[in-house]
Amino acid sequence: MVERFVARFGKEKIAILHSKLSIGERYDEWKRIERDEAKIVIGARSAIFAPVKNLGIIIIDEEHDQSYKSDMTPKYNAKEIALYLAKQNNVPLVLGSATPSVSLYHEVENTDRLITLTKRANNSNLPNVEVVDMKKELAVGNRSMLSRKLKESIEKNIQDKKQTILFLNRRGYSTFVMCRDCGYTVTCNKCNITLTYHIRENKLKCHYCGYERQNLTKCPECGSNNIRYFGAGTQKLETEINKLFPEASTIRMDIDTVSKKNSYEDILNKFKDENIDILIGTQMVVKGHHFPNVTLVRSYCSR
Ligand SMILES: [Zn+2]
Ligand SMILES: [Zn+2]
Repeated sequence: MVERFVARFGKEKIAILHSKLSIGERYDEWKRIERDEAKIVIGARSAIFAPVKNLGIIIIDEEHDQSYKSDMTPKYNAKEIALYLAKQNNVPLVLGSATPSVSLYHEVENTDRLITLTKRANNSNLPNVEVVDMKKELAVGNRSMLSRKLKESIEKNIQDKKQTILFLNRRGYSTFVMCRDCGYTVTCNKCNITLTYHIRENKLKCHYCGYERQNLTKCPECGSNNIRYFGAGTQKLETEINKLFPEASTIRMDIDTVSKKNSYEDILNKFKDENIDILIGTQMVVKGHHFPNVTLVRSYCSR
Protein backbone atom coordinates (compact mmCIF):
# COMPACT_ATOMS: atom_id res chain seq x y z
CA MET A 1 0.00 0.00 0.00
CA VAL A 2 2.87 2.36 0.90
CA GLU A 3 4.47 1.72 -2.50
CA ARG A 4 1.28 2.60 -4.33
CA PHE A 5 0.65 5.79 -2.36
CA VAL A 6 4.24 6.99 -2.66
CA ALA A 7 4.11 6.41 -6.42
CA ARG A 8 0.93 8.47 -6.69
CA PHE A 9 1.42 11.29 -4.15
CA GLY A 10 5.18 11.44 -3.53
CA LYS A 11 7.18 10.46 -0.47
CA GLU A 12 7.07 13.86 1.29
CA LYS A 13 3.31 13.82 1.69
CA ILE A 14 3.16 10.40 3.31
CA ALA A 15 3.81 9.28 6.87
CA ILE A 16 3.98 5.65 7.90
CA LEU A 17 3.21 4.33 11.37
CA HIS A 18 3.58 0.75 12.53
CA SER A 19 5.19 -1.20 15.34
CA LYS A 20 8.25 -2.32 13.35
CA LEU A 21 9.59 1.26 13.29
CA SER A 22 12.19 2.17 15.86
CA ILE A 23 11.15 4.69 18.53
CA GLY A 24 13.22 7.35 16.75
CA GLU A 25 11.59 6.68 13.37
CA ARG A 26 8.20 6.68 14.99
CA TYR A 27 8.90 10.00 16.67
CA ASP A 28 10.00 11.56 13.35
CA GLU A 29 6.88 10.40 11.57
CA TRP A 30 4.71 11.58 14.47
CA LYS A 31 6.29 15.06 14.30
CA ARG A 32 5.87 15.27 10.51
CA ILE A 33 2.16 14.55 10.96
CA GLU A 34 1.84 17.03 13.81
CA ARG A 35 3.54 19.77 11.74
CA ASP A 36 1.02 19.02 8.98
CA GLU A 37 3.80 18.10 6.50
CA ALA A 38 2.46 14.62 5.92
CA LYS A 39 -1.01 14.77 4.43
CA ILE A 40 -1.60 11.04 4.28
CA VAL A 41 -0.93 8.71 7.20
CA ILE A 42 -0.67 5.02 6.40
CA GLY A 43 -0.44 2.62 9.25
CA ALA A 44 -1.56 -0.39 11.20
CA ARG A 45 -3.95 -0.32 14.16
CA SER A 46 -2.26 2.33 16.32
CA ALA A 47 -2.09 4.81 13.42
CA ILE A 48 -5.64 5.76 14.38
CA PHE A 49 -4.02 7.87 17.16
CA ALA A 50 -1.92 9.90 14.71
CA PRO A 51 -1.99 13.64 15.56
CA VAL A 52 -3.56 14.64 12.23
CA LYS A 53 -4.25 18.39 12.15
CA ASN A 54 -6.97 18.71 9.57
CA LEU A 55 -8.68 15.36 9.24
CA GLY A 56 -10.59 14.87 5.97
CA ILE A 57 -11.33 11.17 5.73
CA ILE A 58 -10.56 7.89 7.52
CA ILE A 59 -10.26 4.74 5.43
CA ILE A 60 -10.03 1.35 7.08
CA ASP A 61 -9.18 -1.35 4.59
CA GLU A 62 -9.83 -5.03 5.29
CA GLU A 63 -12.20 -3.88 8.02
CA HIS A 64 -13.09 -7.47 8.96
CA ASP A 65 -9.52 -8.12 10.10
CA GLN A 66 -9.31 -9.16 13.76
CA SER A 67 -6.10 -7.20 14.23
CA TYR A 68 -7.95 -3.86 14.54
CA LYS A 69 -8.83 -5.03 18.03
CA SER A 70 -5.89 -4.68 20.39
CA ASP A 71 -5.56 -7.49 22.92
CA MET A 72 -2.73 -5.73 24.73
CA THR A 73 -3.41 -3.16 27.43
CA PRO A 74 -4.75 -0.57 26.76
CA LYS A 75 -7.34 -2.65 24.93
CA TYR A 76 -9.13 -0.80 22.18
CA ASN A 77 -10.82 -1.31 18.85
CA ALA A 78 -9.40 0.95 16.13
CA LYS A 79 -12.72 0.77 14.25
CA GLU A 80 -14.65 2.18 17.23
CA ILE A 81 -12.10 4.95 17.66
CA ALA A 82 -12.30 5.71 13.94
CA LEU A 83 -16.09 6.00 14.19
CA TYR A 84 -15.76 8.38 17.15
CA LEU A 85 -13.13 10.51 15.38
CA ALA A 86 -15.20 10.64 12.19
CA LYS A 87 -18.24 11.88 14.14
CA GLN A 88 -16.22 14.43 16.14
CA ASN A 89 -14.60 15.84 13.01
CA ASN A 90 -17.64 15.41 10.82
CA VAL A 91 -15.69 13.52 8.16
CA PRO A 92 -16.51 10.31 6.27
CA LEU A 93 -15.33 6.93 7.48
CA VAL A 94 -14.86 4.30 4.77
CA LEU A 95 -14.74 0.66 5.86
CA GLY A 96 -13.59 -1.51 2.99
CA SER A 97 -13.66 -5.27 2.63
CA ALA A 98 -14.35 -8.00 0.11
CA THR A 99 -15.58 -10.08 3.05
CA PRO A 100 -17.17 -7.60 5.48
CA SER A 101 -17.93 -8.54 9.07
CA VAL A 102 -21.48 -9.83 9.47
CA SER A 103 -22.47 -7.15 12.00
CA LEU A 104 -21.30 -4.30 9.78
CA TYR A 105 -22.89 -5.76 6.68
CA HIS A 106 -26.19 -6.18 8.49
CA GLU A 107 -26.04 -2.59 9.71
CA VAL A 108 -25.61 -1.07 6.26
CA GLU A 109 -27.56 -3.58 4.19
CA ASN A 110 -30.44 -1.85 2.35
CA THR A 111 -29.13 1.62 3.24
CA ASP A 112 -27.40 4.19 1.06
CA ARG A 113 -24.30 3.70 3.20
CA LEU A 114 -23.52 0.45 1.41
CA ILE A 115 -21.34 1.08 -1.64
CA THR A 116 -20.71 -1.95 -3.81
CA LEU A 117 -17.96 -2.28 -6.37
CA THR A 118 -19.48 -3.69 -9.54
CA LYS A 119 -16.16 -4.55 -11.13
CA ARG A 120 -13.13 -6.36 -9.78
CA ALA A 121 -9.67 -4.80 -9.73
CA ASN A 122 -8.28 -4.44 -13.27
CA ASN A 123 -11.65 -5.64 -14.53
CA SER A 124 -10.52 -9.22 -14.03
CA ASN A 125 -12.92 -12.12 -14.14
CA LEU A 126 -13.99 -14.11 -11.13
CA PRO A 127 -12.03 -17.35 -10.84
CA ASN A 128 -13.68 -20.68 -11.51
CA VAL A 129 -14.52 -22.28 -8.19
CA GLU A 130 -15.08 -25.98 -7.79
CA VAL A 131 -16.03 -27.65 -4.53
CA VAL A 132 -14.85 -31.23 -4.20
CA ASP A 133 -16.65 -33.49 -1.71
CA MET A 134 -13.90 -35.41 0.06
CA LYS A 135 -16.42 -38.00 1.32
CA LYS A 136 -16.89 -39.09 -2.29
CA GLU A 137 -13.13 -39.30 -2.68
CA LEU A 138 -13.01 -41.59 0.34
CA ALA A 139 -15.73 -43.77 -1.22
CA VAL A 140 -13.47 -44.49 -4.20
CA GLY A 141 -10.56 -45.27 -1.92
CA ASN A 142 -8.70 -41.94 -2.05
CA ARG A 143 -7.44 -41.50 1.52
CA SER A 144 -4.98 -38.70 0.77
CA MET A 145 -5.48 -35.03 1.66
CA LEU A 146 -5.81 -34.15 -2.03
CA SER A 147 -8.76 -34.93 -4.25
CA ARG A 148 -7.99 -36.59 -7.59
CA LYS A 149 -9.05 -33.38 -9.33
CA LEU A 150 -6.67 -31.25 -7.29
CA LYS A 151 -3.80 -33.68 -7.83
CA GLU A 152 -4.35 -33.54 -11.59
CA SER A 153 -4.55 -29.74 -11.54
CA ILE A 154 -1.30 -29.41 -9.59
CA GLU A 155 0.41 -31.87 -11.95
CA LYS A 156 -0.72 -29.86 -14.95
CA ASN A 157 0.41 -26.62 -13.31
CA ILE A 158 3.89 -28.02 -12.66
CA GLN A 159 4.15 -29.16 -16.28
CA ASP A 160 3.02 -25.75 -17.53
CA LYS A 161 5.48 -24.01 -15.16
CA LYS A 162 2.60 -22.26 -13.39
CA GLN A 163 2.43 -21.68 -9.66
CA THR A 164 -0.02 -23.05 -7.08
CA ILE A 165 -1.09 -21.77 -3.66
CA LEU A 166 -2.53 -24.22 -1.13
CA PHE A 167 -4.34 -22.70 1.83
CA LEU A 168 -5.06 -24.69 4.99
CA ASN A 169 -6.23 -22.94 8.14
CA ARG A 170 -4.31 -25.22 10.53
CA ARG A 171 -0.60 -25.21 11.23
CA GLY A 172 1.42 -28.07 12.66
CA TYR A 173 1.29 -31.69 11.52
CA SER A 174 -1.75 -33.25 13.18
CA THR A 175 -4.39 -31.23 14.97
CA PHE A 176 -4.91 -33.81 17.70
CA VAL A 177 -3.41 -36.97 19.12
CA MET A 178 -5.66 -39.71 20.50
CA CYS A 179 -5.36 -43.09 22.18
CA ARG A 180 -7.22 -45.55 19.98
CA ASP A 181 -7.99 -47.86 22.90
CA CYS A 182 -9.52 -45.53 25.48
CA GLY A 183 -10.16 -42.34 23.50
CA TYR A 184 -7.81 -40.18 25.59
CA THR A 185 -6.74 -36.96 23.82
CA VAL A 186 -3.87 -34.74 24.89
CA THR A 187 -5.16 -31.29 25.87
CA CYS A 188 -3.68 -28.13 27.35
CA ASN A 189 -4.36 -27.92 31.10
CA LYS A 190 -4.85 -24.18 30.94
CA CYS A 191 -6.81 -23.78 27.69
CA ASN A 192 -8.62 -27.12 27.51
CA ILE A 193 -8.02 -27.51 23.76
CA THR A 194 -6.25 -30.41 22.05
CA LEU A 195 -2.52 -30.04 21.52
CA THR A 196 -1.21 -29.99 17.95
CA TYR A 197 1.54 -32.38 16.90
CA HIS A 198 4.64 -30.72 15.36
CA ILE A 199 6.64 -33.34 13.52
CA ARG A 200 10.06 -31.73 13.20
CA GLU A 201 10.52 -31.12 16.92
CA ASN A 202 8.42 -34.18 17.83
CA LYS A 203 6.46 -32.00 20.24
CA LEU A 204 2.85 -31.31 21.15
CA LYS A 205 1.95 -27.63 21.32
CA CYS A 206 -0.98 -25.52 22.50
CA HIS A 207 -1.79 -22.98 19.78
CA TYR A 208 -3.51 -20.69 22.30
CA CYS A 209 -0.96 -20.22 25.08
CA GLY A 210 2.23 -21.68 23.58
CA TYR A 211 2.56 -24.52 26.13
CA GLU A 212 4.55 -27.45 24.72
CA ARG A 213 5.51 -30.95 25.81
CA GLN A 214 7.26 -34.01 24.40
CA ASN A 215 5.21 -36.23 22.12
CA LEU A 216 3.49 -39.29 23.60
CA THR A 217 4.42 -42.86 22.86
CA LYS A 218 2.19 -44.38 25.52
CA CYS A 219 -1.31 -43.42 26.70
CA PRO A 220 -1.07 -41.93 30.22
CA GLU A 221 -4.62 -43.16 30.98
CA CYS A 222 -4.56 -46.83 29.94
CA GLY A 223 -0.93 -47.50 29.02
CA SER A 224 -1.73 -48.48 25.43
CA ASN A 225 0.80 -47.88 22.63
CA ASN A 226 -2.01 -47.44 20.14
CA ILE A 227 -1.51 -43.67 19.74
CA ARG A 228 -2.87 -42.20 16.51
CA TYR A 229 -2.76 -38.80 14.81
CA PHE A 230 -5.81 -37.04 13.40
CA GLY A 231 -6.61 -33.82 11.56
CA ALA A 232 -4.09 -32.42 9.12
CA GLY A 233 -2.08 -29.20 9.37
CA THR A 234 0.22 -27.38 6.97
CA GLN A 235 3.25 -29.51 7.94
CA LYS A 236 1.43 -32.68 6.98
CA LEU A 237 0.18 -31.13 3.74
CA GLU A 238 3.77 -30.12 2.92
CA THR A 239 4.98 -33.67 3.61
CA GLU A 240 2.26 -35.14 1.38
CA ILE A 241 2.97 -32.68 -1.42
CA ASN A 242 6.69 -33.44 -1.30
CA LYS A 243 5.90 -37.15 -1.49
CA LEU A 244 3.43 -36.76 -4.36
CA PHE A 245 5.45 -34.24 -6.37
CA PRO A 246 9.12 -34.84 -5.50
CA GLU A 247 10.24 -32.79 -8.50
CA ALA A 248 8.30 -29.68 -7.44
CA SER A 249 9.72 -26.90 -5.27
CA THR A 250 7.61 -25.91 -2.26
CA ILE A 251 7.65 -23.21 0.39
CA ARG A 252 5.56 -23.09 3.57
CA MET A 253 4.26 -19.94 5.24
CA ASP A 254 2.70 -20.04 8.71
CA ILE A 255 3.64 -18.74 12.18
CA ASP A 256 6.18 -21.56 12.49
CA THR A 257 8.15 -20.54 9.38
CA VAL A 258 7.66 -16.78 9.55
CA SER A 259 10.24 -15.48 11.99
CA LYS A 260 12.56 -12.49 12.12
CA LYS A 261 15.10 -14.25 9.93
CA ASN A 262 12.51 -15.43 7.45
CA SER A 263 10.04 -12.61 7.21
CA TYR A 264 6.64 -12.67 5.60
CA GLU A 265 8.03 -10.57 2.72
CA ASP A 266 11.09 -12.83 2.29
CA ILE A 267 8.91 -15.90 1.81
CA LEU A 268 6.58 -14.14 -0.62
CA ASN A 269 9.47 -12.66 -2.60
CA LYS A 270 11.12 -16.06 -2.77
CA PHE A 271 7.89 -17.58 -4.04
CA LYS A 272 7.69 -14.91 -6.71
CA ASP A 273 11.34 -14.41 -7.70
CA GLU A 274 12.47 -18.03 -7.63
CA ASN A 275 9.24 -19.17 -9.22
CA ILE A 276 8.61 -21.78 -6.49
CA ASP A 277 5.97 -24.25 -7.73
CA ILE A 278 3.80 -24.52 -4.63
CA LEU A 279 3.18 -22.16 -1.71
CA ILE A 280 1.55 -23.84 1.30
CA GLY A 281 0.25 -21.77 4.17
CA THR A 282 -2.33 -20.62 6.67
CA GLN A 283 -4.48 -17.44 6.52
CA MET A 284 -1.30 -15.47 5.84
CA VAL A 285 -1.24 -16.61 2.21
CA VAL A 286 -4.72 -15.41 1.36
CA LYS A 287 -4.32 -11.64 1.72
CA GLY A 288 -4.60 -9.68 -1.51
CA HIS A 289 -1.31 -10.69 -3.10
CA HIS A 290 -0.64 -10.24 -6.74
CA PHE A 291 1.21 -13.15 -8.36
CA PRO A 292 0.81 -13.08 -12.12
CA ASN A 293 1.94 -16.68 -12.49
CA VAL A 294 -0.49 -18.22 -9.98
CA THR A 295 -3.25 -20.15 -11.72
CA LEU A 296 -4.45 -22.55 -9.04
CA VAL A 297 -5.51 -21.81 -5.48
CA ARG A 298 -6.82 -24.57 -3.25
CA SER A 299 -8.54 -23.75 -0.01
CA TYR A 300 -9.31 -26.16 2.80
CA CYS A 301 -11.71 -25.50 5.61
CA SER A 302 -11.20 -27.88 8.44
CA ARG A 303 -13.41 -26.43 11.13
ZN1 LIG B 1 -5.56 -44.93 26.38
ZN1 LIG C 1 -2.77 -23.61 26.29
